[in-house]
Amino acid sequence: MEAARRRMVEEQIVARGIESPLVLDAFRAVPRERFVDEWLQERAYDDTPLPIGEGQTISQPFVVALMIEAAGVGPGQRVLEVGAGSGYAAAAISRIADRVYAVERHAALGRAASERLAVLGYDNVELRIGDGTAGWREAAPFDAIIVSAGGEAVPPALKEQLAPGGVLVMPVGPQRGGQRLLRLTRDSSDGYATEDLGGVAFVPLVGGEA
Ligand code: SAH
Repeated sequence: MEAARRRMVEEQIVARGIESPLVLDAFRAVPRERFVDEWLQERAYDDTPLPIGEGQTISQPFVVALMIEAAGVGPGQRVLEVGAGSGYAAAAISRIADRVYAVERHAALGRAASERLAVLGYDNVELRIGDGTAGWREAAPFDAIIVSAGGEAVPPALKEQLAPGGVLVMPVGPQRGGQRLLRLTRDSSDGYATEDLGGVAFVPLVGGEA
């Protein structure tokens, strides 16, 4: 698995242009096979999303790496992830940032992810079950927010919970085709700069403010 993981990082992540040593080391460290069911373990390093139950998926490793790099996740930061799913992305972020706050709306997935993160010793991740479109007010502001599900627009609460200079990365657009990975950067005068990072396909963000 260790060898498969190193090969995955080289062939899927480095080869596609991810350069941050912090990001690459995080993906060399987190055992993706522990975030999927046993029957999928031999496919854990495939270049693809995999099912995690409840109609949801663990994202393709490259896409997770791309989002973490695009969000500028770095040491000392507080990071929010909306859509924790299996907990894999939160685990990767936790190898770089100081604290990770992860929200998952599916109770069964959230419970399984919390348990997994605890067993693996990722104790700087706090996971709660609920609607992540409202963010996590008590833990805000965040240096980076990663939304791991696609919506029609960026939920206003998430924009508000970004620290000045903070960066949010989220797939935005129609569910069937045309979803774009957007990066929003909050400037010191409370404006937001938006960049389009390319086409993506994510499961839907479901909830109050989505
Ligand atoms: N980051 C995950 C992949 C998540 S797939 C991983 O590494 O495994 C997207 C997840 O977003 C799903 O688990 C889905 O249940 C969750 N989700 C959808 N809408 C949500 C919302 N409003 N709040 C929190 N989680 C949500």
